[in-house]
Amino acid sequence: MAHVFITRRVMACNPQGKTELAGHALILILKRDVPSSTATRRKKQTAPEDGVGRPALLLAWYDRHRRRLPWRPLPGVAADPYRVWLSEIMLQQTGVKTVGPYFEKFVARWPDVEALGSASLDDVLRMWAGLGYYSRARNLHACAVKVRRDHGGVFPDTEEGLRSLPGIGPYTASAIAAIAFGRRTMPVDGNIERVVARLFAVEEPLPQAKPLIQQLATMLLAGDERSRAGDEKSRAGDSAQALMDLGSSICTPKKPACALCPLNDDCAAHTRGDQETFPRKAPKKTGALRRGAAFVVTRGDQLLVQTRPEKGLLGGMTEVPGSDWLAGQDDKAALQQAPVLKGVTRWHRKAGVVTHVFTHFPLELVVYTAKVAARTRPPAKMRWVPIATLAGEALPNVMRKAIAHGLGF
Ligand code: SF4
Repeated sequence: MAHVFITRRVMACNPQGKTELAGHALILILKRDVPSSTATRRKKQTAPEDGVGRPALLLAWYDRHRRRLPWRPLPGVAADPYRVWLSEIMLQQTGVKTVGPYFEKFVARWPDVEALGSASLDDVLRMWAGLGYYSRARNLHACAVKVRRDHGGVFPDTEEGLRSLPGIGPYTASAIAAIAFGRRTMPVDGNIERVVARLFAVEEPLPQAKPLIQQLATMLLAGDERSRAGDEKSRAGDSAQALMDLGSSICTPKKPACALCPLNDDCAAHTRGDQETFPRKAPKKTGALRRGAAFVVTRGDQLLVQTRPEKGLLGGMTEVPGSDWLAGQDDKAALQQAPVLKGVTRWHRKAGVVTHVFTHFPLELVVYTAKVAARTRPPAKMRWVPIATLAGEALPNVMRKAIAHGLGF
């Protein structure tokens, strides 16, 4: 017997006599009689004889179509917790394509957590430069140090244990626990959120719908035979990765390829024909535009830089001197924060602005340039670095843009 969960809107009359949305009901439909054409299709998609449920269909599809990723072992090979953890941290807020080369560089240089835990934070930040969200790199290093020092170089194998480590929140703990240790837990990322919202036609907008989507996604683990038998080492990791792959290759944000989807028989949004409208989203609030100035100063073939404070946005990264970044900042006030350098009486303002979007606010930087004489000393806490070695500095993308603009690259 197959079953389908669907969500339905529950309407009620308000005191003014108007009908309005009162909530959502989760309805379980037991399908005793599966039409023969559907049954035939399912038989083709399902490896196990009785696997007509979504979890079994998903696993059968995954066994045939799983993506090859640098951190994913071949079928039948146990996952390496270090590689799973490293990839999950890198994939936070960053796409698979961008992460691939960084992952390869990291594992070539630091093949296990012992090696990474022995590296210096500066080296890790340098290697991370360009991946963005630099607090992840600092936490990555702190986590490796802790696993090496306090856990004998072995990652804890439970969600709770993983969450006690720096940089590992509920999603990452769930992903590592499922993928590396087979724990029965379903991590819900953006891809899974979309697939589940469509499968069950979840009307509630994000982010309010997150708990409901988590609950529905977890049900996709339920048909796992080994887990049903109480075996802690389930194929939970494969279920999660199957949904991730389905979301990235078939159930895409635009024009999902529903004809190729192993779950299309039981997809509520596909049945309605409005799959692209899911997940529903509440209107986005973007932060106010901040403005500031960056000062690109050269001494021959050297550039003036400084290191940002350890805590806060882009903590510990390298930057050119600059003003505060404030909403409503005017150019005059920003220019007053220019570094004081012997021989610099006028700053040259470059035409145009550098724009960058952080998670919480967009930024516009005006770039000023100046050239100083060969022996000019750097102001306190600043230093000269050869322009030729800038690639080795932990420069965030916004600073790469500002420097390129200032130097006319
Ligand atoms: S049938 Fe279409 S909308 Fe539904 S889960 Fe599959 S790809 Fe997504």
